[in-house]
Amino acid sequence: MRIHDVQNRLADLGAKPMHIGRVSRAWLRGLPLDTGTRHQQTENFLPLTVREGLPELAHTLEGLARLKSEHPAADGSARLLVELADGQMVESVLLPRDGLCVSTQVGCAVGCVFCMTGKSGLLRQVGSAEIVAQVALARRFRPVKKVVFMGMGEPAHNLDNVLEAIDLLGTDGGIGHKNLVFSTVGDMRVFERLPQQTVRPALALSLHTTRADLRQQLLPKAPRIDPEELVELGEAYARQIGYPIQYQWTLLAGINDNQDELEGILRLLKGKYAVMNMIPYNSLDDDDYQRPNGDCIVEIVRYLHSRGVLTKVRNSAGQDIEGGCGQLRARAVQPLDSKRLIKRVR
Ligand code: SF4
Repeated sequence: MRIHDVQNRLADLGAKPMHIGRVSRAWLRGLPLDTGTRHQQTENFLPLTVREGLPELAHTLEGLARLKSEHPAADGSARLLVELADGQMVESVLLPRDGLCVSTQVGCAVGCVFCMTGKSGLLRQVGSAEIVAQVALARRFRPVKKVVFMGMGEPAHNLDNVLEAIDLLGTDGGIGHKNLVFSTVGDMRVFERLPQQTVRPALALSLHTTRADLRQQLLPKAPRIDPEELVELGEAYARQIGYPIQYQWTLLAGINDNQDELEGILRLLKGKYAVMNMIPYNSLDDDDYQRPNGDCIVEIVRYLHSRGVLTKVRNSAGQDIEGGCGQLRARAVQPLDSKRLIKRVR
């Protein structure tokens, strides 16, 4: 379901744009749809036909994203397994400091070799109303002041829905544009469309390596954009919106934690309007990939930071509970998907 479907339902009930805005703001705050303001009761504002139609609409909107299970972690985050109206499941993550990570697709077609979500392939797009419904759901638990589009899926592969969601969250949702973070492996459509948006979000680019050949192996279905070009495109966008690009680097022991890569990062990012986020891989015992040891991670950060690239370590939220993104869903749907998963893992 898309946001304009919700708006059309309200218009069919007789709502004018100002009425739609009021209902939409209540929805996005996780409140009952007929919530009034401090100065005006709903019955003095919304037409009767709209008020009478709200219970049915509320039922539909609640069905867009239902909490299936919650998995709190020691770091203050909590992974939410969320069921969509058709029974498909995605994950949202309540992050420390009022953040929320949302999913934009069920599964993902990019197929990053270190990602559980990528193993299932793309099952379906998540509609713009389903994306913002994840925010409305999360706000019933906690305040949400920042939304990162880093959950299941590649936002660039569902661009219209994601941009619609960003637009609504940045207006009726009350979230500042710098606190809406569009995360992508890099796609030319993103660099064309984002600068044209009314709400221009912050951008996170998943780099993972400075070598084009290795990137192709690690992110097999990502668009073929060389790391140099990706950084140039990112830099142009960062200067346009006056906000740095966050580069994401999943640290994989023996793969992209070597000296050549560090020199490559310095070559690409020194002097750029950028922050490098090192995300040590969240390995399971029998994984093909492993997390570098703690000393190695500290040394990498110190090396880059001391040479002029602002570098931070970001642990994947809630890693003490169910591993990385996509693992909750994979576990929940295992009886259904197990054959396909096993085939793809091999
Ligand atoms: S890391 Fe992101 S882009 Fe890559 S397969 Fe997983 S969900 Fe898709």
